[in-house]
Amino acid sequence: MRPYDIIKKKREGHSLTRDELTSFLTGYLKGQISDYQVSAFLMAVFFNGMTPEETVCLTEVMLSSGTVLDLSAIPGPKVDKHSTGGVGDKVSLILAPLVASAGIIVPMISGRGLGHTGGTLDKIESIPGFNTGLNIKEFKEVLSKSGCAIIGISEEMAPLDGRLYALRDVTATIESIPLITGSIMSKKLSEGIQGLVLDVKVGSGAFMKDLKGARELAKSMVDIGNSFGVKTIAAITDMNEPLGLAIGNSLEVHECIDVLKNKGPEDLVEVTLYLGALMLKVACIEANLEAGTKKLKQLIKDGSALKKFKEMVQLQGGNPDILKRSTLLPHSCLSVDIASIRKGYIQSMEAEAIGTAAMILGAGREKMDSSIDPAAGIILRKKTGDFVEENETLCSLCTSDEAVVTKAGKIFLDALTFAERPPEKRKMIIEAME
Ligand code: URA
Repeated sequence: MRPYDIIKKKREGHSLTRDELTSFLTGYLKGQISDYQVSAFLMAVFFNGMTPEETVCLTEVMLSSGTVLDLSAIPGPKVDKHSTGGVGDKVSLILAPLVASAGIIVPMISGRGLGHTGGTLDKIESIPGFNTGLNIKEFKEVLSKSGCAIIGISEEMAPLDGRLYALRDVTATIESIPLITGSIMSKKLSEGIQGLVLDVKVGSGAFMKDLKGARELAKSMVDIGNSFGVKTIAAITDMNEPLGLAIGNSLEVHECIDVLKNKGPEDLVEVTLYLGALMLKVACIEANLEAGTKKLKQLIKDGSALKKFKEMVQLQGGNPDILKRSTLLPHSCLSVDIASIRKGYIQSMEAEAIGTAAMILGAGREKMDSSIDPAAGIILRKKTGDFVEENETLCSLCTSDEAVVTKAGKIFLDALTFAERPPEKRKMIIEAME
């Protein structure tokens, strides 16, 4: 079939055969099919979706476009965690050393932030000297020594995803469940893992704004993971409000260290322990979530998780002294407090708007090739449910660019709603599916 006919078939809402889809995608990789034809195909998928069989085939072609890691020489269960992204979501940075200290090998291959959402890679790179560009041999060495490592996606892994993602980014075709599934799962499956925990965020700061979409995405990814023989569990967790108190790269690293020192904010600790307990379950280290949570709390309390974090930082070239002296992390020359213009209980803090304010301060990138300021961001002084007096500080804006403070401050204030009575407590963990 000609590329034209494949695009037309998809445009008309029919499903493609395995041969049609494979020949179209591999033809693109070989340079036989142009970007504009693939862009049209992606838009047809955006509107008409894909069957589960087509999504499996898409993931398979993406996966086989690159290298799949063989970690069999490293003893221990290999399990990773992936979040669909949110605001203040620094859980991966805590979980990698935490579950590694329980005996899991965590080969974490992460991405950068875009728009209002942050990325694990940008956060960890704010540690002076930390090298996320290890080659596969070096990655395996760090994994063998410390049980966890965090690196960026290499050209060798699922390169078809990189090419399709770049097209999706400029053709408004990112928000498609089969395309997101293929993209995320091909990269995760190429890590050579046996288990995967997915954190599917739902709410104003997430890709998926409603529960229906989040469930659909979770099910699609869980089915793909399990069909490739990787035990996969998805949790759906709340992203209507930023997670924790820090938003912005080095600010979030600071908060991760607080969690590892048993001083973290409640919502962040709850989500971290839950996802960690799921990882222990997937790895068959603990049979149930209660036992897993208890074990993880102990590993934080006795300092094992913090020690593991230090080990990983050191092995990847980062300065381990940041654990003792947080002033060694990048910090902004300007910190501006934003005061409340009214009195009352905070009813909501819209995560997407707050993420956008952080991006404007320099913490995030508007386009894939924008640069970021590792020290910029927002420290929340209040969260949903807190009572505030007029003129009381709501947050501190951190930046090196004075010119953006007024705009970011206004966006932040507009993101909040107030009420006379406290709102119902937010449920962080909505459900899990396997
Ligand atoms: N993250 C990815 O890696 N791919 C997507 O398509 C969306 C989020």
